[in-house]
Amino acid sequence: MDVIVLGGGLMGTASAYFLATRGASVTLIERNRIGSGATIASFGNIRRTGRHLSQLPLAHRSLRLWGEAERMLGRDVEFRATGHIRLIFDDGSLADMRAYAEAARPWGLELEELDPRDIRARFPGLGTDAIAASFSPHDGSGNPRLIALAFAEAARRLGAEIIEGALVEKIERTDSGFLVATSKGSFAAECLLNAAGAWGARIAALFGEEVPLDARGPQMGVTEPLPDRILPVVGIWTRDKDYGAYLRQVKRGNIVFGGAAERVPVDLDPGHAKADPARLPVQLRAVARLLPAIAQVAVIRTWSGCEGYVRDMLPVMGRSVTTPGLFHAFGFSGHGFQLGPGVGDAMAELIVTDRCETPLDDFRIDRFSRADERAELTTIGPSTATSNDRFRIRQGLPQRPI
Ligand SMILES: Cc1cc2nc3c(=O)[nH]c(=O)nc-3n(C[C@H](O)[C@H](O)[C@H](O)COP(=O)(O)OP(=O)(O)OC[C@H]3O[C@@H](n4cnc5c(N)ncnc54)[C@H](O)[C@@H]3O)c2cc1C
Repeated sequence: MDVIVLGGGLMGTASAYFLATRGASVTLIERNRIGSGATIASFGNIRRTGRHLSQLPLAHRSLRLWGEAERMLGRDVEFRATGHIRLIFDDGSLADMRAYAEAARPWGLELEELDPRDIRARFPGLGTDAIAASFSPHDGSGNPRLIALAFAEAARRLGAEIIEGALVEKIERTDSGFLVATSKGSFAAECLLNAAGAWGARIAALFGEEVPLDARGPQMGVTEPLPDRILPVVGIWTRDKDYGAYLRQVKRGNIVFGGAAERVPVDLDPGHAKADPARLPVQLRAVARLLPAIAQVAVIRTWSGCEGYVRDMLPVMGRSVTTPGLFHAFGFSGHGFQLGPGVGDAMAELIVTDRCETPLDDFRIDRFSRADERAELTTIGPSTATSNDRFRIRQGLPQRPI
């Protein structure tokens, strides 16, 4: 079987690798450089806590692969299972965390609840006013600058053709599959995987599939090294988006942080997301609540990246409903870094075997048209919301991307 993968971010490169391990002949086409889209901008959080419940099977699959990445790819991509702590500062957020933990348990995610004494003893210096926290010991972080390149190199070693700097001029459905004309030549294959990130909805629209997707740029920053040692990735349970920050410390001591600030719209042409220093004070106030010591160090760099946010904050994954041989994996709505290896493996399994052991039904591309139909039906019949939808509506939980 031969497959063209469109897009060389984490999703495209991981898919190329897992397709090649399954014996497919792969051509990956990237218009810029490998990993230079949302992937390189990522905070690097490998977090399952707070994910939409139906995403947890995919997140577990991905976490197992992150754990094997160094052996599998022949290179350390700095995956560290340091644990992920989410601090809590008010009773409403504590109730949200407990409700989520209870709902997530049957989906295979166990969260520890920490009281203030546990937090001080195990993680000194974090959230001095926190009343509780959740802790997920097997989560952690990875290096966003390394992972897509590592997948691409490993795929190339297995025979995949990786083409960078190729502008796609035309995509045609032919009798035998697809023909993609680019500035670096034309490529034909039986199957096409659309892994074009924030640009994925444009590719889908070429085949008559509409996806409500906005391109937005979350803002990140990094400080000078801080001598204190903070092991886990740190986040927060809160209903107040102005405090929805997160941070982690890299080996040299620098604190990488994000969240709290608005994600600003990004023009897909050329798709450059800009950080804005005016958004820093809000972010730093929120980060300081999690880590008061941040006040001792200066911010040395800020950045952003162009990410595709789908209306329901879930990705689009699976087969096209209009075009045989076409597959989609895009719109990861700010939380695709953790999922990446699992997405690549699941998409490769689906393309090569026509089945996928991980349930992907909630990510179908036609869910929006089906939801519109359901909305019409609810005016004359009972609610058709899924149990997850009901959980989120009942709890009023935000769908937090990080
Ligand atoms: C600032 C920021 C922080 C984030 N932090 C986290 C985090 O901590 N944890 C987490 O889980 N997720 C995080 N995310 C989300 C995560 O990074 C993304 O969901 C993930 O990297 C998406 O990967 P992708 O391969 O789908 O997209 P991308 O990395 O954007 O790759 C898509 C590629 O397709 C290429 N392309 C587009 N159109 C074409 C075309 N027509 N022809 C050829 N190539 C094309 C683009 O050039 C791009 O390289 C963050 C995102 C951002 C922006």
